[in-house]
Amino acid sequence: SEGKNVVVGRMDGKVVLVAGAGSSGPGWGNGKAAAVLYAREGARVLAADRSLKAADETRDIIRGEGGTCEAFAADVSRSADCAAMVAACVAAYGRLDVLHNNVGIAETGGPVEASEESWNRVIAVNQTSVFLTCKHALPVLLGGGGGAIVNIASVAAIRWIGFPYLAYSASKAAIVAMTQNMAVQYAPDRIRVNCVLPGLMDTPMIREPLTANYGGDVETMIATRNAQVPTGRMGDGWDTAHAALFLASDEARYITGAQLVVDGGFTLRA
Ligand code: NAD
Repeated sequence: SEGKNVVVGRMDGKVVLVAGAGSSGPGWGNGKAAAVLYAREGARVLAADRSLKAADETRDIIRGEGGTCEAFAADVSRSADCAAMVAACVAAYGRLDVLHNNVGIAETGGPVEASEESWNRVIAVNQTSVFLTCKHALPVLLGGGGGAIVNIASVAAIRWIGFPYLAYSASKAAIVAMTQNMAVQYAPDRIRVNCVLPGLMDTPMIREPLTANYGGDVETMIATRNAQVPTGRMGDGWDTAHAALFLASDEARYITGAQLVVDGGFTLRA
């Protein structure tokens, strides 16, 4: 799906910073779809990504649709990059209303198989990055009188997803905890903090690595995963993006600290 929707300007006047706004392969990842959707709904977007090429692609799609977007290269596991990213957003648009933390990498392996390097990398990129982006973005949100933070976690925070994604699951559970903690802490400041827990999504991020677990056959991977979902299909980047849009928009003005599971019923199945 290209995520076509009726545009009603749900993000008119807002500035959204999407960290991880590119896609690690062809097609629509969660972050790329979210950045495009925010722009379609009227937001001015800063598309940040470790890969400038990936951020540029998202920017070009948004501009091609008549939207407003700047691309920025940042590795959000580095504090200095996060500071520069937020500064670039303020320089471009003069404000920030929504911080969307999409960055995440998946590496499988339990405590025996996974290397310490893998553990440290996943925690740094998935978990510490949320601390760092919030550290630098919150002063701007506070200065602007409020806003919203949307963190992309995963159902891996609360369920086994088929393979031992130990560090991944730990980092995503931490994102849920950080979301709840910051939601309470900043509620008096009119900053809402929510997270989305996508389920089994067919995105560029997982297509190749997961397919390796199914004898290298992508059709087998998709058929097997589809069969695990009550609604009969894996999700896609647009399913995640639409949930994030809702949480970021004023329609969710009374929602903070929430975990919005977007999984076609996957986690309800015994
Ligand atoms: P993606 O890999 O297509 O896009 C992620 C982007 O983040 C890439 O463009 C990559 O360059 C960028 N990135 C990676 N490390 C970075 C860093 N240190 N600093 C800045 N940018 C960095 O993935 P996606 O489809 O957009 O989804 C990503 C998010 O969704 C992750 O948080 C992931 O854990 C979560 N998620 C995905 C699934 C799924 O099945 N695809 C399920 C649940 C949750």
